[in-house]
Amino acid sequence: MPRSELEVLQGERLARQVRHVYDNAPLFRQLYDEARIAPSDIRSLADLHKLPVLEKRHIREFRDVHQDPFGGTRCVPIDQIYLGNHSTGTSGKPTLFGLTRTDFEKIGALYARVFYGIGFRAGYRWAANGILHWHGYQAAAEYGVQKLGVVPMLMAKPPIGESLVGLFEDWGDFDFNVLGHYQPEFEIPYLRSRSFRPLDIFPNLRFITSGVDLSDSRRRIVEGAWGVPFRNTYGSGDQYLIAGECLIDKPFFHVPEDHYIVEILDPVTMEPVQAGQPGEIFISNLWAEGFPYLRYRMEDIAIGKTEACDCGRTSLRIRILGRRAWSVQVGDRTIFNSEVEDVVWSHPDLEVVNYQLIRHKQQPQERLEVNLAKTGGVQRLADEAGVLLEKRFGVPVTVNLLDEGAIAQGLIKMQRLLVVD
Ligand SMILES: [Zn+2]
Repeated sequence: MPRSELEVLQGERLARQVRHVYDNAPLFRQLYDEARIAPSDIRSLADLHKLPVLEKRHIREFRDVHQDPFGGTRCVPIDQIYLGNHSTGTSGKPTLFGLTRTDFEKIGALYARVFYGIGFRAGYRWAANGILHWHGYQAAAEYGVQKLGVVPMLMAKPPIGESLVGLFEDWGDFDFNVLGHYQPEFEIPYLRSRSFRPLDIFPNLRFITSGVDLSDSRRRIVEGAWGVPFRNTYGSGDQYLIAGECLIDKPFFHVPEDHYIVEILDPVTMEPVQAGQPGEIFISNLWAEGFPYLRYRMEDIAIGKTEACDCGRTSLRIRILGRRAWSVQVGDRTIFNSEVEDVVWSHPDLEVVNYQLIRHKQQPQERLEVNLAKTGGVQRLADEAGVLLEKRFGVPVTVNLLDEGAIAQGLIKMQRLLVVD
């Protein structure tokens, strides 16, 4: 769709959603009343900036003050929730949200569309590690790929390489085409120890998917070890699946802008950044009826571009630079964990090494401090990693070598940041 038409459509859907949340969700009514904004003030996309932004803290505060597990964001009667979900609650109690029956259909179609965009095709079988609930909703993700004729086939327990190899080594041509994996790099030591290429056992494997911060080093290492491309998606538990990677313009994601408005704002002034400059992502949900967050602060830093892509799409493309929560401020430089990973994993003796950034409560800090878990590692490796990091970021660096196991491993996400006094 030409961008001019797309923006008209976005404006119509936005106006409808603003009316919906104002009439039905007490938190939005409170925020908009405080900002003296009425639904009738929002008529087109050009009015979006008038709306106050929504942050996680607003939802948590409303939840705790009003004893409302939905944090004042629920827009439908409780018996219309068809599929529920909750935040991970890493910062305290979880917050609840969910999908209505209509939402389930819509997000199923959205999963189908985004997954088609990254290469899923009818007849493919999809295997994944333990948890398939990509960006929030396992049932919806499965429903979505089934719409494409893809078979969600197997949920293997991590480490998936070992269990899948065990299952399929003897089963001939019954295998899978797409592997979903949060941390496919963790399988690499096992694959290397068996000294075979995965394609020898899984000859029909086409690509690996995930939904993670993907450093260039991680992509190179994973693609090299598995022998197939890596195709990424972007989303979050409370805002669903948002975008899939362009197969031509990697690592940019195409946003389905008839479903979401994505703003990239200066996190201090809250004004849009210049085209191509980094800013923080704010998402407005144009399709959900149950829990449509508007101008929701994603806490991710990205750059965007809107010129037509060589793949033919006219939609906004975004590149995620990193999560604000997984960054440290050294002097005036913000350093994301994925940037550190990119540098450290580029050293041949430190590929897929477990690492951790140290963030002092007082920010900014004077040095970049990084822990590397390398049992038996020699000081030379720490020194060489330090030189590489100093060269990349231009700041003082300290690298500590720890024993394997000294850095906590989570099933889904590693503890990449250690906060200290
Ligand atoms: Zn494209």
